[in-house]
Order: sequence, then structure tokens, then C-alpha cells
Amino acid sequence: MNHPYSTELADFFKKPLLEAGNPGLNAICEYSGVTKEQLLPGLQRNDCRQYLIMGTCMFGDKCKFDHRTAKKAEADEVMTKLKRFKEDPLGCSKGGEKKNTNKH
Ligand SMILES: [Zn+2]
Repeated sequence: MNHPYSTELADFFKKPLLEAGNPGLNAICEYSGVTKEQLLPGLQRNDCRQYLIMGTCMFGDKCKFDHRTAKKAEADEVMTKLKRFKEDPLGCSKGGEKKNTNKH
């Protein structure tokens, strides 16, 4: 079952994602100098990282991971660590990143 995507993260990502041409989570993390694991080290094994952070998951309802809403502290952590992407999203659009935004 899908829980709602964090509105804080939706707000955070909306503009830079648009400006950078929808880079994937991998590209965003790389650009911000963290790995996906470092972004939210407290995530559980059954949490769908892709959904929790980006609000989209290519597996949808069939995803074997848990589509839960990011807690306030998790949203804050993501927003802090991806500050560079928020402040200068255009830098992330260069360099020919893959267009696939739905990687797990
Ligand atoms: Zn998922």
C-alpha cells in the first residue's frame, strides 16, 4: 500500500528537478557528494528508498518494499544533504546523466 509522499520533500524537489531535467536519485546523490546509503542511513531494509525520497517508484503497487512517508527528521536530513542540488540544480543536468528517474 502506498502512503502519501512527503509534502516537504515534494516541495523541495519540485523546482530543482524541473530545472535539471529530472535527473535520477543516483545522479542527484552523486552531484551532492553522498551515496544513496549515506543520504538516509537510518532506513530499514524494507523501506523503499526511491519512493520515500523521490515519491515515485517504477514498481508501484507491486513493489516488494514499503512505500511509507518520510518522517520529518528524514525529510530534513535529505534536504540538508542535497542542499547543493537545491541551490544549483543546473549543475546536475550537465554531464549526460541517465534519464531513468525510476531506478531503485
Ligand atoms: Zn518501491
